[in-house]
Amino acid sequence: MTFKQFSLDKRIMDAIKASGYTAPTPIQSRSIPKILKGHDVMGLAQTGTGKTAAFTIPILQNLLTGQNRQLRALILAPTRELAEQIHLTSVSLGKGTGLRSIAIYGGVSKNSQVSKLRKGVNIAIACPGRLLDLVGDKHIDLSHIKILVLDEADRMCDMGFIPDIRRIIKLLPTQRQTLCFAATMPDDIKNLTNKILKEPVRIQVGKMAPTKSVAHTLYPVPQALKKSLLFAMLKQTPTGRLLIFTRTKYRARNLARDLAKRGYRAEALQGNMSQNKRQRAIDGFRGNKYDILVATDVASRGIDVVDISHVINYDIPDSSETYTHRIGRTGRANKTGEAFTFASTEDTRLVREIEQALGSPIERRTLQDFKYGNFVPEKQFQGKYSKQKPSALSRRRRRKRRTRHKPKKTHTRS
Ligand code: AMP
Repeated sequence: MTFKQFSLDKRIMDAIKASGYTAPTPIQSRSIPKILKGHDVMGLAQTGTGKTAAFTIPILQNLLTGQNRQLRALILAPTRELAEQIHLTSVSLGKGTGLRSIAIYGGVSKNSQVSKLRKGVNIAIACPGRLLDLVGDKHIDLSHIKILVLDEADRMCDMGFIPDIRRIIKLLPTQRQTLCFAATMPDDIKNLTNKILKEPVRIQVGKMAPTKSVAHTLYPVPQALKKSLLFAMLKQTPTGRLLIFTRTKYRARNLARDLAKRGYRAEALQGNMSQNKRQRAIDGFRGNKYDILVATDVASRGIDVVDISHVINYDIPDSSETYTHRIGRTGRANKTGEAFTFASTEDTRLVREIEQALGSPIERRTLQDFKYGNFVPEKQFQGKYSKQKPSALSRRRRRKRRTRHKPKKTHTRS
């Protein structure tokens, strides 16, 4: 399938081309025609499948006709990072159409959001709390909304946004198109979508399991040795951009600081940082200022960096859904990636849950020449063990690097 088949406006086609998209991804092939025709859609798709453009492209197309500068599309997102990310996609794909979009989220002053709203916007991408604030202050009029999108609805549910979403829906015209995207389908979302979607077209892309273009590896290690294992691993494994997940904000901050002390270009991304600092961290990661980002789950939503070669679960995620979300940051849009998970004995239940979601056991590895002390990794988590050796991806990267004119170091080593 090609984008031509959707008969999109030339300005949108030009923007798609400029974004480097040559062919629609599966979720795009299936959603775009339905959304263009005005159907409600329930999309089950993981992050990394191209779902943002799957709803942004037809929204832009459908808004081309109609009143200019009237707010007609509302996209609800769980975090500021994701709202900002969708806004960027909307700006780049809508470039040339004259349609304007705004990202609305808390943690920053209302002034610039209010002044943008006054000038007139067509698409609002909003976190529920701040949106309700602005509605309360009468800065935003939702009475002309024609399209509502709930993006990462399962995550909004996890974060307790369902009551706010219900409140927002009451403010919208009943005659509208509603689209809902989620990676998983918990009961709360089922109940909500049964009420608000009208005869939705159900689109599921891939299995409800982590992205296939990612190689998964488990490294058994006791808590106390995690940091030394990570440092040893970074010395042995050539990586490109690396995203490390920790369970708490405190651990993210400390680990990023320790990595920076060792000479790595690393930054943290966690909820205690101001919005400006978080944005600087993401921009720095995207723009090659940092090679390593150490993030917590909530803060990492919406990181859209295509070239993440490795995701390291320094702390195991708290569910297989979170694993899917984390791993969705690598192996994006037809690239391959690697996911390393550090697991200690107390993580056995979660390892089993993740393997069930994957549908196969995760390869166990030990790091060659690493001093595990009394800990015998091979005795943990029954399964086949192999010694860490450069993976296919790493070998390819090495070869590529050797053939470059001047080899570029991905990390500054201490
Ligand atoms: P998403 O699932 O929306 O977070 O998108 C994942 C990544 O895929 C983003 O970096 C998009 O820019 C990229 N992407 C979206 N659509 C396409 C496409 N048709 N071809 C190539 N990359 C795409």
